[in-house]
Amino acid sequence: MAMADESLLEYLSEQLVKLKKTTLYRKIKLIEGPCGSNLIINGKKYLAFCSNDYLGLANHPKLKQAAKAAISQYGSGSGASRLICGTQSLHIQLEQKLAKFKQAPAAIVFPSGYMANLGIISSVVGRGDIIIIDRLSHASIIDACRLSYAKLAVYPHNDLNKLEHILKRSQNYNQRLIITDSIFSMDGDLADLPALAGLARRYNAALMIDEAHATGVLGESGRGAAEHFGLKDEIDISMGTLSKAAGSMGGFVTGDKQLIDFLRQRARSFIYTTALPAAACAASIAGLDIIINQPQLRKKLWQNTKYLKNGLKKLGFKLMGTQSPIIPILLYDEDTTMRAAEYLFEHGILIPGIRPPTVPKGKCRLRISLSATHSKDELDYLLSIIKSV
Ligand SMILES: *Cc1c(COP(=O)(O)O)cnc(C)c1O
Repeated sequence: MAMADESLLEYLSEQLVKLKKTTLYRKIKLIEGPCGSNLIINGKKYLAFCSNDYLGLANHPKLKQAAKAAISQYGSGSGASRLICGTQSLHIQLEQKLAKFKQAPAAIVFPSGYMANLGIISSVVGRGDIIIIDRLSHASIIDACRLSYAKLAVYPHNDLNKLEHILKRSQNYNQRLIITDSIFSMDGDLADLPALAGLARRYNAALMIDEAHATGVLGESGRGAAEHFGLKDEIDISMGTLSKAAGSMGGFVTGDKQLIDFLRQRARSFIYTTALPAAACAASIAGLDIIINQPQLRKKLWQNTKYLKNGLKKLGFKLMGTQSPIIPILLYDEDTTMRAAEYLFEHGILIPGIRPPTVPKGKCRLRISLSATHSKDELDYLLSIIKSV
């Protein structure tokens, strides 16, 4: 128990001592050089299965070139919020590109996906409204719900019967907003978007999806899970990030012109923060060009996914129903998980052990994320080491 006269710093250092006694204290590794399927740590090369750089664009020459050219023309910083000094033409270009890519009437960019979720959710609903989310929703969605002052209801992961039950019993709220990740970031499985869209329509609720992991990854053209399921107008609010497959930085929302205009007027994480630097916008535009024009990268990513999943299944691992390049290996307790991660690291492989609070207690796992840039030899090496864990 903290005593009343204890200083804040004393209290915090006690908390740290407690954390260090558990396996939950996180040490952050120093990476030398760019993000990629190979990382240099302490001068040693590691085969990495941890980034969300699904298409290998984070260090792509075209993106780097675009960013450099943008810095030459527009400088390194954007100086202020877009509402204060105005918007640079690259912001507009990026928004137009996103709207076209997602086949939506309009788009708005935020400095990150996290900020996009905060801005959207806390502005479109408020007191008197209800938000209904999947239990495994990304932390940025949960934080945003808290900021919104709306009532929050949570249904068990992908349990649409429970969702329907909540919809039936929440008719007295003004606005009802259902929010789901399309690809769940820790389990790698998909939300059943057609069924969710059906429920939203039947009960006159709005549907928002978070396509952070699906953008550039799912769908014939890389537009995400909505495209994969053949949905478009059924989704009221679609958000995504440019920091994963698109190889850059920034969050975005696409949808109706009124929605986007409303967000420009009211989303606090758009208004009260400095605009993305031109370099990030230019890199995103170049990344989207590659997503659109080089479907073979997406194809390779899915080939890698299939190959590794089959290999792991042959070794007898439980893969938690993943339907994406995120492949979790459930090892249950923290100790086993962190020891397995350590063993892999000693053998030159970087796969993060995921534990609470990121996942529920007793659901610790190794979380493999694949990239189009992984070679078959690298996947075979991974399988051989996992076999020996
Ligand atoms: C990564 C992620 C975000 C946040 O995106 P950033 O651009 O990294 O801030 C939001 N939602 C989900 C589901 C994510 O996985």
